[in-house]
Amino acid sequence: MDKLKIYTARLRKLESIEQFIESFRCREIEESSKNQNLSVRYSAYIVDEQVIVNGSIQGTLELECGRCLENYALPVDLPVSCVYPADLEEIDLSDELRQTLILNLPNKYLCKDDCHGLCPKCGKNLNLGACGCLHDTGDVRWEKLRDIFKK
Ligand SMILES: [Zn+2]
Ligand SMILES: [Zn+2]
Repeated sequence: MDKLKIYTARLRKLESIEQFIESFRCREIEESSKNQNLSVRYSAYIVDEQVIVNGSIQGTLELECGRCLENYALPVDLPVSCVYPADLEEIDLSDELRQTLILNLPNKYLCKDDCHGLCPKCGKNLNLGACGCLHDTGDVRWEKLRDIFKK
């Protein structure tokens, strides 16, 4: 039996259910996160002909930093709560869970906010220390100097 599906007839009989899904994978983000260590827990019950679901997605996603290209673990702890009409025969929670996860992912994957990235010249990971290249790109002071030399 698929633990991510709620069968309303069964739920009526049991009054409430609690589930723990040890490994949950999201296909949509497989390209950016091959290692997904996520679990899902939820409880469900029926009130006023509505199925109330409360739970969470927890664990870590391994992502690649967009600046330094190192893998890092993003902690995940997302609450999930949704309501469905109780006249549905079965409710599949996987869509809701996948959407919750995707919507809460950062726009940019960064191992840390101030990741220094890679040196554009030698490719060294600048989080590990300076590389010795002259980093003059984008620095106005250098541009002014260059202008002087051009003249
Ligand atoms: Zn980084
Ligand atoms: Zn360098």
